Amino acid sequence: MDNCIFCKLAINKIPSAKVYEDEEFIAFLDIKPVSLGHTLVIPKQHYENLESVPPEVAGKFFQIVQKVAKAVFQATGVNGFNLGFNNGAVAGQAVFHIHMHIMPRRTGDGLKPWPQRELVAGETESIALKIKQALTL
Ligand code: 5GP
Ligand code: ZN
Repeated sequence: MDNCIFCKLAINKIPSAKVYEDEEFIAFLDIKPVSLGHTLVIPKQHYENLESVPPEVAGKFFQIVQKVAKAVFQATGVNGFNLGFNNGAVAGQAVFHIHMHIMPRRTGDGLKPWPQRELVAGETESIALKIKQALTL
C-alpha cells in the first residue's frame, strides 16, 4: 500500500525505534506513547482490519504479540500492561494497517479503563443469540 505509513515503516522507508523483526512481523515504539515502552506489533503485509487477516496470520500475530509483550514487561519492570486493538474508525483506529498496542501499566499511572454501564433487561439474550447465529453462518 503506497500511502500506508506502517507499510513504509515495515520496509524502513521511514524510521522507527524497532525492537523486533522477523520475516513477517515487526514491533516498534509508538511515536506518541500512552506510557514509556508503548510498543506496536504489525504484520509486514498490509491488512486493513481484523476481518481481513487470514486465520493463520492472526494466529502467528498473537504469538509475536505474546513474545514482545513479555519482553516489554521485563524491560520496563512494570506491574502489568494493556493490549489494545482499535478496529475501525469508530473504535479509534487511525492507521488502517492492523497493529496491536502493548501499553505498560504502572501502579498509580492514572490511566482510566473504558466506561461500563448497566444492562437493560433482555438485551444480553438478544445480542448473544445474534452473535451465536453469526458464528454459525
Ligand atoms: P490507532 O489509533 O490506529 O490504533 O493507533 C495508531 C498509533 O500509531 C498511534 O498510537 C500513533 O501514535 C502511532 N503512530 C502513528 N504514526 C506513527 C509513526 O510514524 N511512527 C510510530 N512509531 N508510531 C506512529
Ligand atoms: Zn500498510
